[in-house]
Amino acid sequence: TVSGYADKFVQKFGLNLQSTEYGYLMIFAGLLYAYVNMLTQDSEIKLRLAQFASHDALTETENFAAYTEHIKYLFDDSAKNNLNLSMMMFDIDHFKHVNDTYGHLAGDRVLQEVAATVTTVLAANDEKVKLYRTGGEEFNVLFPGYDLASTKVIVRQVFEAVNHLVVKYEDEEINVSISVGVSTLHQADGSPIDLYNRVDQNLYFSKRHGRMRVTVE
Ligand code: GH3
Ligand code: MG
Ligand code: MG
Repeated sequence: TVSGYADKFVQKFGLNLQSTEYGYLMIFAGLLYAYVNMLTQDSEIKLRLAQFASHDALTETENFAAYTEHIKYLFDDSAKNNLNLSMMMFDIDHFKHVNDTYGHLAGDRVLQEVAATVTTVLAANDEKVKLYRTGGEEFNVLFPGYDLASTKVIVRQVFEAVNHLVVKYEDEEINVSISVGVSTLHQADGSPIDLYNRVDQNLYFSKRHGRMRVTVE
């Protein structure tokens, strides 16, 4: 490839070269080739590292680190500019039972399909609304600019889509359901934790009252 590179040069400019000049040209082409190669590899590695740092490898959703960063930014921005901000948290029901009954790989497939389903619903609504995998089988969705009423519309769609999901794994068909907690930013909230705690309590309420339900407050 390096000599091919040099030959193209020679042809293109119709050069009539001595063998030493040709040798120098070869060296130059070789260095240029190596340098360009190194630059593209370097930026590919950087891209992959960035993806690795902010995304969950199994579900390809954004991860807990990305969530922490984004909620901090959105909380400050919303408080300063008096903007709405809502949060939905959901946890897959009886997920341990899925692992115990169908195996860990089946559980992994359920996580992937739940994440893909939710991602599709969110993308069809608003690209600013993002899904994060914040725990094993626990996810969080941030709604920048959304009050409770507008959040509920999308939450309902997510809830319906996941509860209708049937995951096929080998010869098995696995039904999935989620429990959900939702809340919105209050004037009195001093940090993202205040919002998070309300959402978490609502999720807990959904779990304690039969699962497969949404608690909004
Ligand atoms: P609940 O309805 O109360 O949420 O019950 P649950 O069984 O879903 O909740 P529990 O917290 O008892 O169990 C969660 C399980 O999720 C335990 C853990 O082994 C499993 N888990 C966490 N991360 C992964 C993963 O990446 N893949 C698989 N297959 N399982 C996981
Ligand atoms: Mg669970
Ligand atoms: Mg859990």
